[in-house]
Amino acid sequence: MTSTAPGTPALPPAATQTVLVVGAGIMGGGIAQVAAQAGHPVLLLDSRPGAAAQALDKLAGTLDGLVAKSRLGAEEARATLARIRPVASAAEAAAAALVVEAIVENLQAKRELLRDLEAVVGDDCLLATNTSSISVTALAAGLRRPGRVVGMHFFNPVPQMKLVEVVSGLHTEPAAAQAVFALAQAWGKQPVHARSTPGFIVNRIARPYYAETLALLLEQAAPPQVIDACLRGAGFRMGPCELMDLIGHDTNLAVTCAVFDANYQDKRYQPSLLQREMVDGGLLGRKTGRGFYRYPEGAPPLPQPAQEAPTHLLEVTVHGNCEVAAWLEQRALQLLAPHGRHPARLYASGWTGLEVGRARLVLTDGRTAQERAQAMELDDIAVFDRMGAVPCAPGTALAYALAPGAHAAWQHQAPAWLAALGLAPQCVADSPGLIVARTVAMLVNEAADAVLQGVCTPQAADAAVKLGLNYPAGPFEWLAHWGLGEVTAVLRALDEHYRGERYRTSPWLRRQPAARAGGRA
Ligand code: NAD
Repeated sequence: MTSTAPGTPALPPAATQTVLVVGAGIMGGGIAQVAAQAGHPVLLLDSRPGAAAQALDKLAGTLDGLVAKSRLGAEEARATLARIRPVASAAEAAAAALVVEAIVENLQAKRELLRDLEAVVGDDCLLATNTSSISVTALAAGLRRPGRVVGMHFFNPVPQMKLVEVVSGLHTEPAAAQAVFALAQAWGKQPVHARSTPGFIVNRIARPYYAETLALLLEQAAPPQVIDACLRGAGFRMGPCELMDLIGHDTNLAVTCAVFDANYQDKRYQPSLLQREMVDGGLLGRKTGRGFYRYPEGAPPLPQPAQEAPTHLLEVTVHGNCEVAAWLEQRALQLLAPHGRHPARLYASGWTGLEVGRARLVLTDGRTAQERAQAMELDDIAVFDRMGAVPCAPGTALAYALAPGAHAAWQHQAPAWLAALGLAPQCVADSPGLIVARTVAMLVNEAADAVLQGVCTPQAADAAVKLGLNYPAGPFEWLAHWGLGEVTAVLRALDEHYRGERYRTSPWLRRQPAARAGGRA
């Protein structure tokens, strides 16, 4: 451990030591519960009279519920409650080993609080902030001992969410961050280290999940329920539209604007006109009864294409040498076997997909169907999206786009073939990277920039998005699985299509050694 200033603890506070939680709202109540369940005497302080006692009452109800469901022992519930004591002033917390502040998200209010706390607590008391967007460096500035200020960013609901981002600002002493990290582990959490930059890890890497959807919606590439279904099909627990409706468009827009402004209005983070309009119109999501969807109804059903049987069963060739090609071959084999045939396979092909007669179903490499049709000098082209996992479950929604010159027969046969392969094909506008490939490539890009800037390690980024956002995989796991060439090809295609700063490939990705070179068709 380096540069430990006198008094900064290298070890986490022991379970016998007192924790002061300031702010008894949604987050403070949860933090008090977790600290008390770990055995700490907890003092709970709120500037609103009665708020701490109310939070304790609410917690008593929550714990009773857990006991009733046999998820917590009655004695543990009683002991947890008994360890938390509402206090009227910080003066009672002179002996605290740790303060976690979870007050209103306001720089001035948090700075004043930290300054007042310094006058009360001992020199070896850690000062943790649960801020979700304010710079930890800015919060520590001007304090007598700024090295002990650490971000301890919990996620909502605190008792259930395992992730804690342990955020270091420029002043934060490594020993203080390490002590908070070890403490979070002792509280049963899975902490990750992060550097204090806008959005830290999770709120930053998640931006493209919303932003790419909003961009697709703005250019009318697909309706919300199709985008949601395709991303759920790729393994995301909630689609971005239903998730934004749940979070609230006002909250989501505020975080987006904060990250955009904090990055000196870098176009990469530019908020969407669409979301602005929804917020201005009071379409905030579930809480106002209407966002992308109306509530309580929720998403309308997916469009059902007319079902047609696939033709040209005797002229099928599978192209490519990746797991998607292997899966296509296996599925095509099942289709052709009753006809006594099996598909041809061309491993050394410049593209991945299925050739049916003279028509082609092509796995996206980021380019549009129109561009693929031009490169292949064929009209009957359909590009299909990346699957989250291969093989995917039967009936998985998957986006495809037709080249503008595709004949009417192929317009019907492309979805017929995708359906025959076991997918639920969703026709979308011919846009680069369709839905899943585009979104995931941009999540990887954002994570790569975060690593480039020393915000976190690739391992921390993967852990943070899986624990904090329930993503099915981390960005660097996707990168390893899809391959550097495939991900950067999608980014390059997006960049060439839209031009401007938004889709620039992270220098971190460009500096990685290329795995292999491939021809483009
Ligand atoms: P909240 O409004 O539910 O609670 C904040 C509480 O702080 C209120 O009870 C308020 O009376 C009290 N308070 C305000 N100023 C105070 C002061 N100077 N001294 C003492 N008490 C004061 O808010 P919340 O959602 O619990 O958020 C608290 C913090 O946690 C914010 O910094 C927020 O950004 C962060 N956070 C929130 C979430 C979330 O999902 N809600 C997630 C992660 C982090």
